[in-house]
Amino acid sequence: MTKITGKTKLLGVIGHPVEHSLSPVMHNAAIAQLGLDYIYLPFPIEPQNLEVAIAGFAAVGVVGFSVTIPHKQAIIPLLSEITPLAQTIGAVNTVSRQNNQWVGTNTDIEGFIAPLQTTYKQDWSQKVAVILGNGGAARAVVAGCIQLGFAQIHVVGRNMQRLQEFRNSWSNSSLADKFQVHQWEELPKLIPQANLLVNTTPIGMYPKVDESPLSVEEIANLPTGAIAYDLIYIPKPTQFLQQAEKQGAIAIDGLEMLVQQGVAALKIWLHLETLPVEVMRQALQNHLGLGE
Ligand code: NAP
Repeated sequence: MTKITGKTKLLGVIGHPVEHSLSPVMHNAAIAQLGLDYIYLPFPIEPQNLEVAIAGFAAVGVVGFSVTIPHKQAIIPLLSEITPLAQTIGAVNTVSRQNNQWVGTNTDIEGFIAPLQTTYKQDWSQKVAVILGNGGAARAVVAGCIQLGFAQIHVVGRNMQRLQEFRNSWSNSSLADKFQVHQWEELPKLIPQANLLVNTTPIGMYPKVDESPLSVEEIANLPTGAIAYDLIYIPKPTQFLQQAEKQGAIAIDGLEMLVQQGVAALKIWLHLETLPVEVMRQALQNHLGLGE
């Protein structure tokens, strides 16, 4: 347990609900390892209290905080500045206090692309990405795939109106031209072309662990050697990843994205270049009973 002193600095996560957040486990493990006088706490904040809570954070000298559902968009008007990255995807997951002002950014992109830039690094410029789902996390995934330079990016959703809204919401930048949207029925045509297949839907998430966004027949058409990437981290691996691995695909689960978006946030708050990433990963795995 971290020793609280008169100088302990405050970090935390805001959300509603927030009790199930894994961020305190990961961040407090890093803080303890670094021997720093900080603590990272969960702050359950209802939407109607967001503005007053942020003003209170400024008053008590909070150094920075993570932002989760349902505040990722609602926080934006309360900040003095947001980075171009957060602007691009229209959501903030990390806020820091800089020169007495709140500055927001989004580290989900960095988290998502981290395994694709390290362990599975390759030239993506001739590759095809197929992304299932068009919600909040899909925005970071699309931005990440654009950043990696994929030749083609296809976003697949179940509702044409929401797909069109997803596409139109990027119209301020040239980014909307870099991907195409498709209805679910088009998947049989897209899967055989996919070098990277990403599940950003919650299908298969605990407790519905037997579900998968794709049927066995659909996933059978995934090319051998393709990467199947599921943003879900409980269970680890999901049904989707198990099916994909049986087809000879490489599987990446959501735990590393969770770790790496946290690493990126902690670097901002602590002004550090190097963090105990393995300690953070291990803390999460132990907490989830994965014990690797
Ligand atoms: P979200 O904004 O609610 O988006 C969910 C998307 O999934 C929507 O496009 C929704 O479609 C689609 N969807 C839901 N049920 C579906 C179904 N039965 N069939 C087809 N599509 C379906 O949620 P989110 O914030 O993007 O999060 C999505 C998942 O990513 C969650 O499991 C979350 O835990 C995970 N995640 C992981 C990390 C990480 O660090 N590993 C980070 C962020 C999120 P409609 O638009 O048609 O409703």
